[in-house]
Amino acid sequence: MYKFAVFGNPVQHSLSPTIHNLFARQCDLSVQYDAIECTLSAFAITVRDFFLCGGHGANVTLPFKEHAFALANTVSSAARLAGAANTLCRSDDRTLFAENTDGLGLIRDLTTTQGLNLTHCRILLLGAGGAARGVLGPLMQATTHPVTLVNRTLAKAEDVAAHFSRVGKVITRSYAELADDHYDVIINATSASLSSTLPALPDTLSCRNALVYDMMYSKKPTIFMQWAKNQGASVVCDGLGMLLEQAAESFYLWTQHRPEVLAVRRQLLHPSRPL
Ligand code: NDP
Repeated sequence: MYKFAVFGNPVQHSLSPTIHNLFARQCDLSVQYDAIECTLSAFAITVRDFFLCGGHGANVTLPFKEHAFALANTVSSAARLAGAANTLCRSDDRTLFAENTDGLGLIRDLTTTQGLNLTHCRILLLGAGGAARGVLGPLMQATTHPVTLVNRTLAKAEDVAAHFSRVGKVITRSYAELADDHYDVIINATSASLSSTLPALPDTLSCRNALVYDMMYSKKPTIFMQWAKNQGASVVCDGLGMLLEQAAESFYLWTQHRPEVLAVRRQLLHPSRPL
């Protein structure tokens, strides 16, 4: 039996156990997937214990992604670029390997599920935390335009932009400076929707013909998704697709089995239907 877990704080709300159990059913694998909540000071020892006791793979969520990166013995290029990891696994020599599948998950959801060609898209990314760092590099690589990065604490956005300057140009702006801008894709990587608040977006920021994406997922449209609809967005999505795609990539890393994400998405949205 495979033993997996997600580490976070809080973590009980996480959909990851449900998603990975559906992946396991679909791939006919025996999996135990737990949600483990711990404090920051206990994170390293809790993760080490998990792997010492036979754990095969772990997901890491808020607020431990940077700590997971620091804990690993080896890291992928995506994790190195982000400076954060959402996936850990044990290598053959029993050392810890860290990966970041968030960027790939978002790009797959945008391009495959939403059918978007990002090549000529002007992209606005809100937030400069772990999630934004995970997706910024892949977004920069996907478009020929510089990505615009906005954060409530502007200095943090500037630090992130400086870190990513090896990949390309990132334009940093304050929220107020967005007033007359227009973007093809707007991605909310802030945690504001978690507390049902909106980032301080100017009323004049038009979303006409834009795809607007909230990384948060919830049963009802988030306050940010409602705002985007009112601003004229042509497509509005939550982060469920990204969550599924990044999870599928972790699952593949751990088991070498690639789940069929669309079938699992249908099952999550309509649990009474067969998988
Ligand atoms: P962090 O705590 O690392 O970062 C939070 C970010 O949100 C910071 O940039 C912070 O700005 C900003 N922020 C918080 N509150 C507000 C507000 N009221 N107005 C404007 N900005 C605000 O969180 P993560 O980056 O890890 O996660 C961000 C979101 O992404 C969460 O909702 C998470 O659930 C989601 N997520 C979804 C994934 C998916 O697969 N769908 C994967 C990963 C994350 P400041 O620096 O000024 O404090």
